[in-house]
Amino acid sequence: MTTPIVQASTQLSLTGRTALVTGAASGLGKRIAEVFADAGANVVIADLKLADAQATADAIAQTGVKTLAVAMDVTDEAAVDAGFAQVQQQLGAVDILVSNAGIQIVAPIEDFKFSDWKKLIAVHLDGGFLTSRAAVRQMIASGRGGSIIFMGSVHSKEASKLKSPYVAAKHGLEGLAKVIAKEGAAHGIRSNVICPGFVRTPLVEKQIPEQAQELGISEAEVIRNVMLKDTVDGEFTTVDDVAQAALTFAAWPSNALTGQSLVVSHGWFMQ
Ligand code: NAD
Repeated sequence: MTTPIVQASTQLSLTGRTALVTGAASGLGKRIAEVFADAGANVVIADLKLADAQATADAIAQTGVKTLAVAMDVTDEAAVDAGFAQVQQQLGAVDILVSNAGIQIVAPIEDFKFSDWKKLIAVHLDGGFLTSRAAVRQMIASGRGGSIIFMGSVHSKEASKLKSPYVAAKHGLEGLAKVIAKEGAAHGIRSNVICPGFVRTPLVEKQIPEQAQELGISEAEVIRNVMLKDTVDGEFTTVDDVAQAALTFAAWPSNALTGQSLVVSHGWFMQ
């Protein structure tokens, strides 16, 4: 039997780190917070409604890490800054930010309401800016640096019909992540983007009937011929797939992995 050149790796550790995940009461953010806690991090569950955030935080606290639930609308500058100040006071400076909160609104561009455009851009881009600015300030002040992870999408790389502000915002997050990678390097701050394909979270479950109606096809056809059409195997990406990518970015020890995007999509998009 030959000796493997690379030994099987032990689980990545986040022990002693504090991670704040936005939109963590549901879907991808919730699973990322659970996986980070499994890896030893103290986790901050930030979401719109305190009760939802608290329920997730309480469940994760059973594993023995410290948790904190924060009501935070990521589009509200005062709420974001107050939330980060609360974290600093109760758990210390944030070491890992996952800027994940997101919404989806679908319509053809000729019918897209300007108010809906602004609402979606605010959650993804204003939210990405406000939360990363607050995290960078704490990471510089702590002297420990840290890891900023933006939740992009295959729509950071590709377009789909009916999603004009979403595709624009997700492309924009790649630019923001690259700027922070350059500005943050001197402080040990890394900045990266995860680009998932379709994952069956509440956000996607809502889109299936909406797209079926807009496109005049069945829900099964939306899944088969729209959402998973270009994957290599017709499979949905899972919350665990995305959480493992987030764990890798969070635990990476150097600036070797910064300014990057990782597409986790069953081959829907290939770099
Ligand atoms: P989800 O609807 O399950 O969860 C989104 C969470 O964000 C909710 O808990 C919601 O309350 C919260 N949120 C919404 N607006 C907010 C605001 N203004 N401030 C704070 N929190 C807010 O959705 P999900 O699928 O888990 O999506 C999470 C992220 O992943 C989004 O950025 C989404 O664009 C991205 N994404 C999802 C998929 C997918 O297929 N599910 C694919 C690619 C990217």
